[in-house]
Amino acid sequence: MANEVRQTMTHFWEEHSRDATVEEMMLDSSAALLSKEEKPEIISLLPCLVGLTVLELGAGIGRYTGHLAKLASHVTAVDFMQNFIEKNRDDNGYRGNITFLQADVTLLDLPNGTFDFIFSNWLFMYLTDEELAALIQKMLGWLRPGGYLFFRESCFFQSGDCERTFNPTLYRTPAQYNHLLTSVTSKSGHNGFEIVMSKSVQTYIKIKKNQNQVCWMLQKVPREANGHQGYTTFQQFLDNQQYSRKGILRYEKIFGDGFVSTGGLETTKEFIAMLNLVPGQRVIDVGCGIGGGDFYMAKTYGVDVLGMDLSSNMVEIAMERAVMEKIPQVQFEIGDATRRIFPDASFDVVYSRDTILHINDKGALFRKFYSWLKPGGKLLITDYCCGERPWSTVFEEYVKQRGYVLYTPEEYGQFLQKVGFVRVQALDRTEQFVQVLKKELVRTQEIKQEFLESFSEEDYNYIIEGWKEKLHRCSLGDQRWGLFLAEKPLDIIS
Ligand code: SAH
Ligand code: SAH
Repeated sequence: MANEVRQTMTHFWEEHSRDATVEEMMLDSSAALLSKEEKPEIISLLPCLVGLTVLELGAGIGRYTGHLAKLASHVTAVDFMQNFIEKNRDDNGYRGNITFLQADVTLLDLPNGTFDFIFSNWLFMYLTDEELAALIQKMLGWLRPGGYLFFRESCFFQSGDCERTFNPTLYRTPAQYNHLLTSVTSKSGHNGFEIVMSKSVQTYIKIKKNQNQVCWMLQKVPREANGHQGYTTFQQFLDNQQYSRKGILRYEKIFGDGFVSTGGLETTKEFIAMLNLVPGQRVIDVGCGIGGGDFYMAKTYGVDVLGMDLSSNMVEIAMERAVMEKIPQVQFEIGDATRRIFPDASFDVVYSRDTILHINDKGALFRKFYSWLKPGGKLLITDYCCGERPWSTVFEEYVKQRGYVLYTPEEYGQFLQKVGFVRVQALDRTEQFVQVLKKELVRTQEIKQEFLESFSEEDYNYIIEGWKEKLHRCSLGDQRWGLFLAEKPLDIIS
């Protein structure tokens, strides 16, 4: 069986590599146009390649090989079709830092710990689950610790949804890719892949109205000794614990449509007004949840928004809502704020609501925000905070069970100052928090019948009790809420 698949695949590519043209290889008659548009987009998503040792799998005629080799110190370009390899060598061989390797990736053996970056565009969909699982395991070995894997595939979201239905492509849903990646790596001892980013290729959405082109960036990192409260990755912890699909929709019922944070649209309107947004500005929403704030910002102020969240359940719901909202200025992606890479000065505004409580190293995160912002760019954060220690036992237990990392508003402000932000305002908004909680509680009690149409009595009680407990912890002085505003200086003296 396995051999049969290999033979079919090999035969298929022999048939499609006769002329070694871009149309033939991309299996698309409008390949040249698509390629021109998508290449810069794909390239913009890659980490800085300068000086890196790169492995490119399924390189084809070398659409990406030239770019990789221009920046990297060395590229090993692998493909199993001789005609493609030859065309790639003809076009890019003059660079002198490329090793061309004709090999089937399922049979490839390379020394461990030798590559900083593995790049692969449209290869995994020509491998079976077993072949891909074995390859992921091998790639984890080939990379140096901290190294990155980038790949892009044609996916499908629902059956019957795919555009290229020829055999022998093996279409998977993004979730199936995620599952393969985590199930493989969790078995592999001290290192594993953690997600950095995953998103649809925007060029295909724009030109072909096709969301099914999806790319991933993963990083090889040491596994946490005890995992994340029993989950292998932090993403799995979020998706299965606090932010299951039901958990999210249940929260939305009390926070209001589109929101999973204090005050919903009401606080969102108040705080966003402080940013003096101007049409065309670029905003990143870190931990965007299901995107209510992003649609509001884009609609009201004409800004371009990138909503980023590590929870795949959150992003999935946000994307469902995006289909209904039809606002092209809003994009969503799965992204880990602690690992995501953007070029310096990519955004006018960094916005984040009740998210950073999940993140351990605030200093490192704020350094990233600082670099992502343009000079003069603005930062607005709301977040759960705490009072001075020692805390009550109920608060200790709550924070531990949620895995939150909390500071007092004053400490929080100091983190921002240390990183170089100016005009830092660290405001204790606990009083507002309490007023909002009370309102949310009353409103939810008023809509109990409606709540029970979608959820159980137990869900209802969970929310009501949760809100009462929050109020109690605030009254003890333990739970606090902060609003933080800051700017990146216009003139940076280095
Ligand atoms: N990455 C290139 C080519 C994509 S087409 C680009 O984006 O332009 C898919 C490529 O994968 C083809 O060149 C095909 O020959 C190669 N390929 C498919 N299965 C392979 C395998 N098992 N081993 C090596 N190369 C493979
Ligand atoms: N800001 C949204 C959602 C708040 S809930 C709103 O106001 O409605 C907190 C969110 O933070 C969750 O969606 C969670 O998945 C996300 N999150 C937690 N850790 C993250 C990380 N490292 N990177 C990106 N998002 C993260």
